[in-house]
Amino acid sequence: MSETIDLTGFRAETRAWLEAHCPPEMRLPVTSEDDTCWGGRNATYQSVAQRQWLQRMGEKGWTVPTWPREYGGGGLSADEAKVLAQEMRALGCRMPLASFGIWMLGPALLKFGTEAQKREHMPKIARGEIRWCQGYSEPNAGSDLASLATRADDQGDHFIVNGQKIWTSYADKADWIFCLVRTDGAAKKHTGISFVLFDMTTPGVTTKPILLISGKSPFCETFFDNVRVEKHNLVGKAGGGWDVAKYLLTHEREMIGAIGDRAMPKPMGQLAATLVGTDEQGRLADPLLRAQIAEFEIDEAAFRATMERFGDMAKAKQAHPAYSSMLKYYGAELNKRRHELAMSAGGSDALEWESERSREGFAARTWLRTKGNSIEGGTSEVQLNVIAKRILELPGA
Ligand SMILES: Cc1cc2nc3c(=O)[nH]c(=O)nc-3n(C[C@H](O)[C@H](O)[C@H](O)COP(=O)(O)OP(=O)(O)OC[C@H]3O[C@@H](n4cnc5c(N)ncnc54)[C@H](O)[C@@H]3O)c2cc1C
Repeated sequence: MSETIDLTGFRAETRAWLEAHCPPEMRLPVTSEDDTCWGGRNATYQSVAQRQWLQRMGEKGWTVPTWPREYGGGGLSADEAKVLAQEMRALGCRMPLASFGIWMLGPALLKFGTEAQKREHMPKIARGEIRWCQGYSEPNAGSDLASLATRADDQGDHFIVNGQKIWTSYADKADWIFCLVRTDGAAKKHTGISFVLFDMTTPGVTTKPILLISGKSPFCETFFDNVRVEKHNLVGKAGGGWDVAKYLLTHEREMIGAIGDRAMPKPMGQLAATLVGTDEQGRLADPLLRAQIAEFEIDEAAFRATMERFGDMAKAKQAHPAYSSMLKYYGAELNKRRHELAMSAGGSDALEWESERSREGFAARTWLRTKGNSIEGGTSEVQLNVIAKRILELPGA
């Protein structure tokens, strides 16, 4: 389908703006998690260019292109945002900001937040000034999240929160937390839950990093000991937190499903060719690996097309809410396959903890990290249950 005149003009303006404002260093692939910009009060920038890129995109509202301008967004239509994404990809521009505020909390605030909450929190998310973490899981509430036991006792104008969260990604680096708490212990388990926001520097909040097999420690145990949370930081109704939590999870799952989209600096076949070499016909030298990569790249292309189709359906308000489970399930499994293949292509060199090769995306650490893709945001088994029940409507599911 040909593009409308408006969109063609927007594309030309966007390309020109990106060419003028995206620093050359920000057009090179991200090579490690340390290279990712997370913003926040204590943000560390790898370079001046990284800081500039965030600042410029934040000022334009293009860290969150479709959010309304009054909340720090770019006010773009879905079609314009697609053009922006295409032009960024064509130029190799990095995402200026990685953010749980953008991927998870922002959409939930837009739907459930008060006007004051939107104006307070969304512009700071858009500009990368405040970094958020997610306080959902507890030692006895993972897949069965509604069993959560962290308590928030009503004290009139505020709550007092006590309890423990676990697997809270980057809790030790985050400025604020969006958190599920039980405000009514007598109600049925899904209806006694509320969704609250609070500053991680509030007295009574402590974090303890959990060291992982990859040698890094992205997540923490998070403890709340008589933490005061003002009532104006309740999102949605008291006891209505489950609806907010579920809505936020659909956004988290879509984000995780799309994780592979930015996983590798080059197509897998090209990356593998640099490692295993090519035959006299220019094909990947190892025929078995060649077949596996071809199969993978076909599946990857099909998945990308499916994501785009679901995006268009969401725009037309025709998407089933459980589609996010399909995207999450397939995207997570595909990303694990991607990194298994990358390790096969890298051979024993890929087992090195730190190496030049790891700069090309063939890294043992990254491979180990992908194991978590089918757990975070709800496990693959749980997504399959949701698909069986809500999409396939299987009896007994
Ligand atoms: C990388 C990563 C980042 C994370 N970040 C965060 C974060 O920032 N904030 C946060 O709150 N949480 C976070 N989590 C936690 C994550 O949400 C939980 O690990 C996940 O929901 C699973 O819960 P669990 O670990 O308690 O496993 P369990 O629920 O105990 O599950 C154990 C196993 O049983 C299976 N299982 C459970 N129930 C069923 C069922 N009904 N049917 C079939 N199989 C079932 C599961 O699939 C799994 O294989 C993160 C996890 C990872 C891996």
